[in-house]
Amino acid sequence: MQHETIAAISTPVGEGAIAIVRLSGPEAVEIAAKLFDGKALTTVPSHTIHYGKLIDPITGEVAEEVMVSVMKAPKTFTREDVVEINCHGGLVSVNRVLELVLQEGARLAEPGEFTKRAFLNGRIDLSQAEAVMDLIRAKTDRAMNVALKQMDGRLSRLIQKLRQELLETVAHVEVNIDYPEYDDVEEMSHNMMIEKTQYVYKEIEKLLEMAKQGKILREGLATAIIGRPNVGKSSLMNALVHENKAIVTEIAGTTRDVIEEYVNVRGVPLKLVDTAGIRETEDIVERIGVERSRQVLKQSDLILLVLNYGEEISDEDRHLFEAVKGLDVIVIVNKTDLAQKIDLEEVQKLAGDRPVITTALIEEKGIDELELAIKDTFFAGEIDGGDLSYISNVRHIQLLKQALSSLQEAMNGIEMQMPMDIVQIDVTRTWELLGEIIGDTVHESLIDQLFSQFCLGK
Ligand code: GDP
Ligand code: ZN
Repeated sequence: MQHETIAAISTPVGEGAIAIVRLSGPEAVEIAAKLFDGKALTTVPSHTIHYGKLIDPITGEVAEEVMVSVMKAPKTFTREDVVEINCHGGLVSVNRVLELVLQEGARLAEPGEFTKRAFLNGRIDLSQAEAVMDLIRAKTDRAMNVALKQMDGRLSRLIQKLRQELLETVAHVEVNIDYPEYDDVEEMSHNMMIEKTQYVYKEIEKLLEMAKQGKILREGLATAIIGRPNVGKSSLMNALVHENKAIVTEIAGTTRDVIEEYVNVRGVPLKLVDTAGIRETEDIVERIGVERSRQVLKQSDLILLVLNYGEEISDEDRHLFEAVKGLDVIVIVNKTDLAQKIDLEEVQKLAGDRPVITTALIEEKGIDELELAIKDTFFAGEIDGGDLSYISNVRHIQLLKQALSSLQEAMNGIEMQMPMDIVQIDVTRTWELLGEIIGDTVHESLIDQLFSQFCLGK
């Protein structure tokens, strides 16, 4: 348990008619009671809400009209005493309330500290905590659902099941080491080891496959539109933005920074990235060479490569194809309203097994086909947020990959007839790595780092 009482504004600042200042810790109720003119908060039942006024004890002036909820440990988000002071949403009044509670002895919460306490007090596990963070950031409804599912503990339960399987094999090996004279035990544990490691390996692989889709749902697919000047890149961007509801448009920092346009194409959130050198790649290949433009383009999840139906394929086009080798690409042959000069057979050859869509953007033709191709590139069949991975964040994916490779080591060991106690080291390592996803074997520093990413007041 933490001994300090923390406080923060837990609603977005400057938005909405009501703002909440949240307190958590052993003195939460006492601090609020000292400021509150109304019922004696220290004696009210838990989980009740009370109308009254906040008085500045130093000046005796009425600071705010408020509603105060009192929630006693342990049935609270942090498992500590929690008080929420609802006040007017204006910046001045909410800051005034925060000031008062700090003046009475609360400490300003660090970003994510409420959620961190919930985790440290065993209220939620790490993957659930991260889901809270994702929830705050979720940009689409679907992503929101995925985040909710994770909070539900589905990922945790799945991971726990896999860990249990691994633990059983380790237990068997222990028996084997303790009673080496029993041949059949050795035989059994060997077979069991093969069976269980293969099973867990496949399950982790499945999770990783789903992670790709999870990431898409959560963050949007980083999409670059490339092509020679004048082929219709801007027209394509406009078509996608106008046809589909733009989810968010954010302009970060100065005008030289990245501009991202979020659109929802048949359930696939695209983040159309417009950076110097990514979207306006008119001459990027010429300018910095194939290898370097590859490096730039690799940062995209999807590339829309636009060609001109009314012109022959140029060397510049061919360079673009080279630069996107191995990446997810949809080829768009635009301006089919013009007389054909392009050799479609050559286009198909350059495209390989990637989809080629013809459009006349000026007549709004071919956009449906393009949208279907985008959907099919990332989702076979219907998209079902419910079945998609709950593993969407980078740390989970990293850990799963590490778990997979240490499990691979174990399987190699089995195949090479290595002694079981050696193989067991890799199995144990896999078990530990999976544990880190749900916070079972996490070190303090990692926890601090994670929780500092949260918004203040969460
Ligand atoms: P960008 O330079 O690749 O961004 O190309 P733009 O989107 O700015 O388009 C260049 C020109 O081609 C503009 O005048 C567009 O109106 C025109 N354009 C775009 N799509 C089509 C099309 O399907 N057919 C024809 N004929 N012109 C098009
Ligand atoms: Zn343009």
